[in-house]
Amino acid sequence: MENFGCAENSKKFSCKEKEAGNKTFDSVAEIAASRGFFWPTAEIYPDKLAGFFEYGPNGLALKNNILKIWREELIEKEDIIEIDGCQILPKSVFQASGHLKNFNDPLITCSKCGFKTRADKLIQESIGKEIPEKLSNEDYDELLKKNKIICPKCKSFFNKTERWNMMLKTGIGAESKEAYLRPETCQSIFVNFPRIYKTSRLKLPFGIAQTGKVFRNEIAPRQGLIREREFNQMEIEIFFNPEKEDEIKNFNEIEKEILPLYLKDKLQKVSSEEAVKKKVVKSKLVAYYLTILKQFYLKLGIPEDKMRFRYVPEEDRPFYSKETWDFEVQINTGWLELCACNHRSDYDLSGHQKVSKQSFEIVDESVGKKVLPNIFELSAGVDRTLYAILELTYKDEPKNDRTIFSFPEKLAPVQVAIFPLVNKERMPELAKKVYEMLKPQFKCFYDESGSIGRRYRRQDEIGTPLCLTIDGQTVKDDTVTIRERDSMKQTRVKIKDLVGELKK
Ligand code: ATP
Repeated sequence: MENFGCAENSKKFSCKEKEAGNKTFDSVAEIAASRGFFWPTAEIYPDKLAGFFEYGPNGLALKNNILKIWREELIEKEDIIEIDGCQILPKSVFQASGHLKNFNDPLITCSKCGFKTRADKLIQESIGKEIPEKLSNEDYDELLKKNKIICPKCKSFFNKTERWNMMLKTGIGAESKEAYLRPETCQSIFVNFPRIYKTSRLKLPFGIAQTGKVFRNEIAPRQGLIREREFNQMEIEIFFNPEKEDEIKNFNEIEKEILPLYLKDKLQKVSSEEAVKKKVVKSKLVAYYLTILKQFYLKLGIPEDKMRFRYVPEEDRPFYSKETWDFEVQINTGWLELCACNHRSDYDLSGHQKVSKQSFEIVDESVGKKVLPNIFELSAGVDRTLYAILELTYKDEPKNDRTIFSFPEKLAPVQVAIFPLVNKERMPELAKKVYEMLKPQFKCFYDESGSIGRRYRRQDEIGTPLCLTIDGQTVKDDTVTIRERDSMKQTRVKIKDLVGELKK
């Protein structure tokens, strides 16, 4: 089978990760590919590129369902509007944002075989300890030397550490005008802020959200959907008056909710209210958005005991952030960041204001004063979220001779599968009728091929919560069997009561 997780040049680590457990990147990716969730782009060609993946029908359905829940839970319940900006943006945008200068990773190249990798990650993997992302090139050289780290391919020394800019450059039109593929969706939110503010008539604080593709020329993409070069983000940027960061109108609705905050190597489970009072988080605004983010991830089926917000110390924070909490989930190989929660202060708006020479200040009507809003963002990766859901809901049940994904109903690519027990005695006709009846309300799938046991297993494999079987008794009394995925329990229900029962 294809080695999905490994980059062109990083097989060793993905294979090491594979030994760490039976559900690691490669095995989940293999299962995902065999069930139509995702697979490597252009996999049939020898020049296929690492870090690019295609979603098949089940993966796309899962991805769309994640986005649907994101909209329901985070966008529609709040004062947040959504836009859809371009993926290619001119050079000025990234000059103003600082990405052309600062969006770098430390790159090392083997002096003999030319193998290239990230200095920080290789050191981390070799010494088994986190190291700060913002060290100088000299610091990385020193650590490589001190820990006697050599090329994992040919055992030679590395050349000196360089900086690798992750922006993907392109040339537009016949003149090949310099432009870049966006590395995060939010820059068009910032650039368009004055116009959106004018046309939306929203008052501070309010949010602007965007989902879509982003591109990063990662040095060593691997671990499947976890580190890609083209991936999807769902981002929310909250604009607020910095003087009113503690005036959040719905705070009392969530103040008793528990936040799992991880800082100084310790997990503290505190209410949002306490986190603000004890100044663990910067403000009510920060606590509020961390809480609703947690609620969103609970809806996606991530178990509460597998999630935390990790305080990111200054030396590891992105260049634009004043306070960062990474929302992380515990997967087989450790903690994985799914969403960066960054206090971007006025970094972005003042940058664009300076380069564009246009004012980004607005009047905060509640105080009758002009302000340059500050921004708090929830920057989540769609693909990493999807990967984490697959890994955390996957179950191997050898005693039942099956594997399942126990997705919450709202996430499942298929919600109800409908089968005639055998292809005779009016069963297929009746089953098709049931299928047509349920189709407008649920995501349904009709299947009449193979043994009934095999059909159940196929649906378990893609996480379908309910299967309906039309059998000999249906012909007599208009009842069908509902089989529940996780418990495999079967109950009989009248066809006329089906919609109500399924909704329950
Ligand atoms: P990392 O430290 O893992 O490289 P990051 O801090 O660079 O991630 P952000 O720039 O904060 O990531 O991006 C926000 C979110 O986008 C991340 O939390 C993650 O879910 C997702 N993301 C970032 N880089 C990648 C990638 N290369 N492939 C897939 N998802 C990614």
